[in-house]
Amino acid sequence: MTNIQVEELRKEFSGESGTITAVDDVSFTVEDGEFVCIVGPSGCGKTTLLRCIAGLETPTSGSIQLGGEEVADVPPQHRNLAFVFQDITLYPHMKVWQNISYPLKLSGHSKEERYEEAQEVAETIQIGELLDKYPGDLSGGQQQRVAIGRSIIRSPRAYLLDEPMSDLDAKLKKEMRVELQQIQREVGGTMTYVTHDQEEAMTLSDRMLVMDEGEIQQYGSPHAVYHEPNNTFVAQFIGSPEINLLPATCPNGDGRTVEVEESGWRIGTGIDEEVPEKVMVGFRPRHTTVHRDGSGELDGEISLVESVGDEGIVYVDSEVGELRSVVEIEEKPVREGDAVSIDVNRTYLFDREDGTLLT
Ligand code: ATP
Repeated sequence: MTNIQVEELRKEFSGESGTITAVDDVSFTVEDGEFVCIVGPSGCGKTTLLRCIAGLETPTSGSIQLGGEEVADVPPQHRNLAFVFQDITLYPHMKVWQNISYPLKLSGHSKEERYEEAQEVAETIQIGELLDKYPGDLSGGQQQRVAIGRSIIRSPRAYLLDEPMSDLDAKLKKEMRVELQQIQREVGGTMTYVTHDQEEAMTLSDRMLVMDEGEIQQYGSPHAVYHEPNNTFVAQFIGSPEINLLPATCPNGDGRTVEVEESGWRIGTGIDEEVPEKVMVGFRPRHTTVHRDGSGELDGEISLVESVGDEGIVYVDSEVGELRSVVEIEEKPVREGDAVSIDVNRTYLFDREDGTLLT
């Protein structure tokens, strides 16, 4: 396996309506054996970035190195990378073992060799019993595993996966996530995985590359990206339900207390630093407490409860608009129309001008 080093990579597309910068001077490294998810909203440049690494797009400028080797002039088939894309293209008239070992057929291996290798790969990814079936007899998840098997068989330098699970249902997705992690441990692969699903990225990644409008917004562990978001974009994109974000001012000239605009609601932040007068205050729904006895600082009324097992996402109408909160609902059910009050336990302050995290 190998590391992937991307430096100042830029990819522009020119068309009749002008030039689009899909990837905007992006630099990062995926270490040997690391699992990195590239995550961001639709159109932020994830696929283009992956296709540049694969050699399927020619960068406008910048460099890509695989294991220290510059690959600008290396065609995709000689980069020895495995791709798994969203659309699974298995050959319907070939059995599973033939599909898995197809790359070996192209490189002239005998039928016996191919069957043996396919068997070994199939054992690794636990589809040994499917070898003699046809794709049409398999579930979506099994087909996905065959596609992964086909990419493993060539012992590639690294894996590039583009939304490989987006066609699977929620339950299967969860199973496949666990399996993909197991497969990665088995083969020790360097994985670069594109998804727009931040929850998927949080579960799978060693590090996440969060992109917006062609640029890296943050590159870090799921823990860092969730707990120390670089800016309001990352804070809003990562975490479910979405963070509460409100314009506020700092009446004392420091960040210790902020006053949410157009209300008298003051939130103690515990942040003892100088900050600009105008900020955005953010607090995650999990970092709030909903009181039913009137002891909280901001009054409101529950407008909607979404139950998720023992937890509920509670939407509260208040003087500062609708706030999201997560509560345990097993013991004390909360209902729409209930009068409640809210306390905030942990906050972030962002610069209102450019959205960067201040503290
Ligand atoms: P999605 O999650 O929807 O697949 P993405 O984050 O992968 O989106 P890209 O597909 O990389 O985003 O697209 C980034 C930008 O580049 C978009 O504005 C897209 O329209 C544009 N783009 C991508 N490929 C081309 C192309 N071949 N020609 C012109 N523009 C393109």
